[in-house]
Amino acid sequence: MQPQDNRNNWFKGQGLWADVPPNLWQDWTWQYKNRLTTLEQIEKFLSLTPEERAGCLLARDRLAVAITPYFFNLIDRNNPACPIRRQVIPLEAEGLVSPCESADPVGEENYSPVPGLVHRYPDRVLFLVTNQCASYCRYCTRGRLVSNAAEHVFLPRHEAALTYIANHPEVRDVLISGGDPLLLSDARLDALLSRLRAIPHVEFIRIGSRIPVFMPQRITPALCEIFRKRGPLWMSIHVNHPRECTEELFYALERISFAGVPLGNQSVLLRDINDNVETMRSLVHRLLMMRVRPYYLYACDLIAGTAHFRAQVEKGIELVRALRGYTSGYAVPQFVIDTPGGGGKVPINPNYVESQGTGRIVLRNFQGHLHEYPEK
Ligand SMILES: *Cc1c(COP(=O)(O)O)cnc(C)c1O
Ligand code: SF4
Repeated sequence: MQPQDNRNNWFKGQGLWADVPPNLWQDWTWQYKNRLTTLEQIEKFLSLTPEERAGCLLARDRLAVAITPYFFNLIDRNNPACPIRRQVIPLEAEGLVSPCESADPVGEENYSPVPGLVHRYPDRVLFLVTNQCASYCRYCTRGRLVSNAAEHVFLPRHEAALTYIANHPEVRDVLISGGDPLLLSDARLDALLSRLRAIPHVEFIRIGSRIPVFMPQRITPALCEIFRKRGPLWMSIHVNHPRECTEELFYALERISFAGVPLGNQSVLLRDINDNVETMRSLVHRLLMMRVRPYYLYACDLIAGTAHFRAQVEKGIELVRALRGYTSGYAVPQFVIDTPGGGGKVPINPNYVESQGTGRIVLRNFQGHLHEYPEK
């Protein structure tokens, strides 16, 4: 039997910044201002490998480097393979672009009636409200839009997007994402939510954010009051590894949840980071302990310079197979591939149907046993 997880060792504290006054450490504007963004700042705390050093130099023209002090503390500074480190510190391999890769692999630009609005599915839109994040994930699907490191500078156009949504009665679901929407000020976020709420056909509003993971200090009582006031709202966070599940994240999610916001998680399947059963099982269990329902597990998109992050699709199927039936159904995310070129998300499942037809369907259960379901 696997040992059960518990929350005894989730506390992280101020770590390398132990001498910063706690009121500053707890202030998200301090966390944001003190992000590590240059080679020099990172090397003050960590000796980079030659591959990481070259990656940092190259990142300037690709996707900016930024790491909040809070998240930097989660890095194992003695281990270049650390799963936290690999998500935010670039490698030289980012410079290798294979022919199947591009800056817009899932074809969002083809479905963008207004800059920053993607209308791919019949009844819902993706609304990109900012081009900034608290830290940058090296495998980011929106690397072309966020951080403004590359020549493509994306400026969100809130008014034009709101007008489009108001003029399209079929849009009943708005997914506010970015960049990270929770980097907007309280006042701007409140105004945006109130404008969306005022559109009668918008039934469902959700926020996609990695802020709770990178900068849990941002989840203030004032922000949660906005969530409560503008609700019902749903939120998807982005956790990839159990080590990201800290006491600070737990309490940030508790505040969000107590404001009436149901929480889901979207993970990206990343080679040598979370592509093994033990890591994934621990992650989904910790998510449930934090009131978060694992929602999607994504195959890593074909972003230029991310071949070193991509695991085999078979690996994702194997992980889902290892969870389904062996643990709480609530813990099992849907594995999806966002298809290149704009086909949208396609669910990928282990095959549990052995044969079908002639009045019966033969099913293989999670243990591999065959069971029959007659259909007459
Ligand atoms: C993922 C995504 C959505 C939301 O999809 P759900 O399956 O409803 O979560 C909407 N629009 C775009 C462009 C997306 O990529
Ligand atoms: S938080 Fe999301 S949008 Fe921002 S860099 Fe990471 S994956 Fe990209």
